Amino acid sequence: LAALPSAEGATPAMAQWFAAKQAHPEALVFFRMGDFFELFFDDAQRAGEALGLAVSHRGEHRGQPIPMAGVPVHALENYLARLIRHGFRVAICEQRETPEQAKARKAPTIRREVVRLVTPGTLTEEALLEGGRAAWLLALARVEGELAAGSLGAAWADLSTGAFACEALPVAELPALLARLDPAEIVLPEDLDALPALAAWAERLSHRPAARDPARQVAEFYGVAALDGFGGFGEAELAACALVLDYLRATQGEAAPRLRPPEPQGGREVLRMDAATRRSLEILKSERGETRNCLAAAVDRTLTAPGCRELAARLAAPLTDAAAIGARHDSVAALLADTPLRATLRGALRGAPDMARALARLALDRFAPRDLAALRDGLARAEAMADALERPGIPALLAAARAALRPEGSPRAELARALCPELPARLEDGNIVAPGYDGELDALKRLRDNARGAIAAMQMRLAQDWGVASLKIRHHQQFGFLAEMPAAAGEKLLRDPPAALREGPYAPMHRQTMANAHRFTCAALAELDRKLSAAGEQAARREAAVVRHLRALCLEAARPIDAAAAALAELDIHAAAAELAAGGAWCRPELVERPEFRIRQGRHPVVEAALARQRGSGAFVPNDADLSPGQRLCLLTGPNMAGKSTFLRQNALMVVLAQAGLFVPAGSARLGLVDRLFSRVGAADDIAGGRSTFMVEMTETAAILNQATARSLVVLDEVGRGTATWDGLAIAWSVLEALHDRIRCRAIFATHFHELTALAPKLPELQLATMQVREHRGEVVFQHLVGAGAAEKSWGLHVARLAGVPRPVVTRAGAVLAALEARAAGLEPLAEEMPLFGQVAERDTAPPAPASPAGVSEGPLHAALAEIDPDALTPRAALEALYRLKQMA
Ligand code: ADP
Repeated sequence: LAALPSAEGATPAMAQWFAAKQAHPEALVFFRMGDFFELFFDDAQRAGEALGLAVSHRGEHRGQPIPMAGVPVHALENYLARLIRHGFRVAICEQRETPEQAKARKAPTIRREVVRLVTPGTLTEEALLEGGRAAWLLALARVEGELAAGSLGAAWADLSTGAFACEALPVAELPALLARLDPAEIVLPEDLDALPALAAWAERLSHRPAARDPARQVAEFYGVAALDGFGGFGEAELAACALVLDYLRATQGEAAPRLRPPEPQGGREVLRMDAATRRSLEILKSERGETRNCLAAAVDRTLTAPGCRELAARLAAPLTDAAAIGARHDSVAALLADTPLRATLRGALRGAPDMARALARLALDRFAPRDLAALRDGLARAEAMADALERPGIPALLAAARAALRPEGSPRAELARALCPELPARLEDGNIVAPGYDGELDALKRLRDNARGAIAAMQMRLAQDWGVASLKIRHHQQFGFLAEMPAAAGEKLLRDPPAALREGPYAPMHRQTMANAHRFTCAALAELDRKLSAAGEQAARREAAVVRHLRALCLEAARPIDAAAAALAELDIHAAAAELAAGGAWCRPELVERPEFRIRQGRHPVVEAALARQRGSGAFVPNDADLSPGQRLCLLTGPNMAGKSTFLRQNALMVVLAQAGLFVPAGSARLGLVDRLFSRVGAADDIAGGRSTFMVEMTETAAILNQATARSLVVLDEVGRGTATWDGLAIAWSVLEALHDRIRCRAIFATHFHELTALAPKLPELQLATMQVREHRGEVVFQHLVGAGAAEKSWGLHVARLAGVPRPVVTRAGAVLAALEARAAGLEPLAEEMPLFGQVAERDTAPPAPASPAGVSEGPLHAALAEIDPDALTPRAALEALYRLKQMA
């Protein structure tokens, strides 16, 4: 940032700008000047670059021209959207009085003040928000003192919907919370910046000192004497809640945001998933960060933005309570069975407005007429849905939704009477209140419109009296209504006015001479002009008052309307899940407490959808999985591209979908509830964090071994791939033993270390599975089918040949491979010697001295061969390795 010049010697307006900038140095100051927001100095350059605006100059400051860029007021939202996306914050500095008011108090310029700080976590405008995603503002706080050491308070609010929740959590759980919420902005006291979990979030941090006396702050915000009614809060939670409220006060100016009381999340257990697991399972985003090709996109059949948001929230935080999950499944099952009911509900949902966000804008007094219409139309649809659900024997959640869909004190009927059917875009445009709703407004509008009729009558009369047939009465911004006529007629009237008109209300008075026209008025016209503008102003004021009344009505019923909006979203999700299930082979998962896991004909919803889109590719091949007691651990082998990762992920996704309350893509599924889900599949680099792939892999493996319980599900792909073969094998071996003997969780462990299959006889609950591959006329055919047993052979050489490696080289490699395999067979006795977990890790990881493989001499060549892992090689690398080996031979 360029240093700000000294404010000394600034003009009065620029002095206001300097004051605003000093108060908000981190933000671009949008400085209102008439119909524009202007940016100055460095702000102008930065915004100019980001928005492609021309930077000009305006006046001078301390002898230097002031760089300036501007955006028209009516286009503000559009520019804000782009700036926020570029990571800027914006301080809106508004004019707070009219030039007349400033003149009246003899001020050198009109008063201006920052009325709002626009930040990524405090947006409410439709144009600035993503309809289907929550916009969380997360606040973090730490309470000093021994007891609270190591634990954090977190509170998160969505200003655009009024949602507000809080939780106390150990610092170690912060990365998982960040991954789950994906907050738009994080506000915290500066000393918390050092938390390692925040390193990747630097751009979204905002600073604010810790709130003082948090309990009082929170109680004051909600106008209550004590917080007990909201549930029990810990000290750290309260501190975080107070920080949210404090930040909203700092950014929202005088506007009073509407937030529901914070819900402490402590008692609410959710399926724990860390950041790496979420990334690997691509729940809300693909690994590339896109919202296409992720789980949410593949299963989303919701019809409303709130439904889509709620679905994302459920997939991000599935439940662990069988009864709560079962209640959701009951709803889906009922709507799956009753097609006409589902169709009626979905008919009402299609195009239903976003009531929660409309309500938030109403509360902040930052609304448009369409927000009132959103409540009118949304509540009407809610009632229609409640009528459709009026039948006996519907499941509990649907019955609860039905009750909420008829909110107490609903302003629906009032809004329907009060609002015009079609509403303008802006409040200033008028024509919002329907005729017949407010007698006074109607009378004022009649007066205004009559006055318009009177203008026409006046025009006729003046044309006749003044003898100028072409006279027209026109309205001018500055002068009001004036009678206009061609220059010749005007000059004649000036020179020689009709005698009868020298005096009296109709005597012409000259106002303006234009190039080819003259403008006149008279006492009668001036009087009419006054009446007309007064009636217009009064009507507008009255209309604004009626709109304020309607807004107040809506806000009075805000809580019940909120509940109706939530019920709408809930129905949207269940109907959508039923719709999805109706369209293909999806089933209701059976959830049990015992750690079972039995899936018949399971599929990966994202890969399946992708295959369906690509013409010419085959259909998805369903696979079974059984990790029930007795065979909790599955060791999966098979070549690259055979479908290992897909199989691992699809089984983890079953848990996410089932526990979120959806049906699953399978013929049948019986699942023991999972408390924590771990998935390590796919890329594990941390280029930004500067850790090597292997370091990342080991950190993540450590997290699993330290956190997984007997109720967890772990899917792991190729542990140990990032290091030398023997290290890797040793680590994979000991991790597998730990999962089997110590943690005793359900797990699928994919590996390219075929040597690991030798462990099978030692680990009674280990089952061997392999991706089936067929050779067809010398070609590899991946069948994507999981079968029992271990991979019979490696296909690396096969791929090398397909890639065009010369035949003698491939043949020679075949001989080398056979020799190596003969040596690997020597591992089986090794397995006999090392039955206990722990011993392997403590041993020197150097390989046992193997017998010299036939045809390969000891020495560098041997060492080089030991480094080669045929399965892990690209065809090109295989070729290079072969040439290298040949040179050494
Ligand atoms: P691996 O992890 O063994 O290298 P992947 O799971 O990445 O293999 O699968 C490779 C490709 O094979 C996928 O992109 C997909 O197109 C296809 N595939 C995987 N599993 C299946 C399946 N069950 N049915 C059909 N195609 C599949």
